[in-house]
Amino acid sequence: MRILLYGGSFNPPHLGHIRSVQTAAAALKPDKIYLIPASFPPHKPLPAGTPAQLHRLAMTRLAAEDAPGCEVSTVELDRQGPSYTSDTLREMKRQYPGAELVFLMGTDMFLSLETWHEPEVILSDASLAVFARETGREEEIRAQTAHLREKYGARVYLLEGQPVTVSSTQIRALLPRRRGREWLSDGVYGHIIRYRLYGARPEFDWLREKAYAYLKPKRVAHVQGTEAEARKLAARWGEDEADAAEAAIVHDITKKLTLPEQLHLCDKYDIMTDERDIANDKLLHARTGAAFAAELFGIPEHIYQAVRWHTTGRPGMTRLEKIIYLADYIEPNRSGFSGLEELRKAAYEDLDAAMELGLRMSLDDIRSRGEEPFEDTVKAQAWFLERLKERGVRPVPWAAPEQETGER
Ligand code: ATP
Repeated sequence: MRILLYGGSFNPPHLGHIRSVQTAAAALKPDKIYLIPASFPPHKPLPAGTPAQLHRLAMTRLAAEDAPGCEVSTVELDRQGPSYTSDTLREMKRQYPGAELVFLMGTDMFLSLETWHEPEVILSDASLAVFARETGREEEIRAQTAHLREKYGARVYLLEGQPVTVSSTQIRALLPRRRGREWLSDGVYGHIIRYRLYGARPEFDWLREKAYAYLKPKRVAHVQGTEAEARKLAARWGEDEADAAEAAIVHDITKKLTLPEQLHLCDKYDIMTDERDIANDKLLHARTGAAFAAELFGIPEHIYQAVRWHTTGRPGMTRLEKIIYLADYIEPNRSGFSGLEELRKAAYEDLDAAMELGLRMSLDDIRSRGEEPFEDTVKAQAWFLERLKERGVRPVPWAAPEQETGER
């Protein structure tokens, strides 16, 4: 029986790791393969900002899904103190007496093996498999192989294959800049974004693809339009354009859900509902959408609030909240309701005046249909009106038509 063992920080596990283990599996045909996340790597302490062990374990499990036959062992995570490979091999020998243990590693680890704790134990208890991380170090690898064979009687398999020249360190640096996804499996990347590990922020193409999958096809154009408008408004008003885009991309993510589905999410996310909410799912989707996007994509609080209030508005809205409310209202695909052109103009002239107008139009629309207006909207409109008064700004003149035709 042959068992392939692959230890590492896996902080995070990347495609270099996966390629390496796939190559080893194809060449050595092991009966079992274990990825072993280290608890305290003795060589390179885990850097500040390293996620909790549970996250490294979860990510390693997700990465293993891309390498058929791969399992994850918690033998090192379960152990106290530094994660010495020699201790791990002793443990594996106990579990699998008589098996050939093959320890897989990259160039850096192979070349520094003699600095490890108890290298003689490692080399007597296991064979080594080496997969190069880069080209150009073949000579060093050959010399080290000869040296280890001679000094320790080491058994070394040199694996052939195209290196994947990336490290977890590089990926950690890319993630906050909305980059690095191409080096990670989709599952690992999704996990990182969901929990915003490493200060990661989502790549926009990825976020769009994931978020659009929850929309009715006909709503995609609206969401695209809202993103474009939100970016423009953010640029006009000095708001963070990327935050505005993130909020816009997810703002309608639960819009297509039925009332029972909305209520299920309310239950799941502890969202209080009353009869009015239940009677009007327009209100619900903003709340469930914010909570759902937070769970799926780890949107931060200020983006959460922008999604949460995008339908009704509220007193004291932040600049980002105003931008999302207005972008949703005036994006280029909107047409057919009176006041739209006035609102479009106002949104680029005075945000508060535009908000007041938008809220007033919305209240008129609701009242014209004989419905009771939302309390948050009534309060928000009064709040913005007061603000305009304080600032000496006249509200934008607009008269509600007799019969409204368009629909938001
Ligand atoms: P960090 O940048 O945080 O030091 P790393 O990318 O070197 O991380 P580790 O989890 O520390 O990754 O590495 C675990 C094992 O995987 C080591 O044996 C390492 O040599 C090997 N390895 C890492 N990256 C690659 C790669 N791109 N190709 C082949 N092997 C790799």
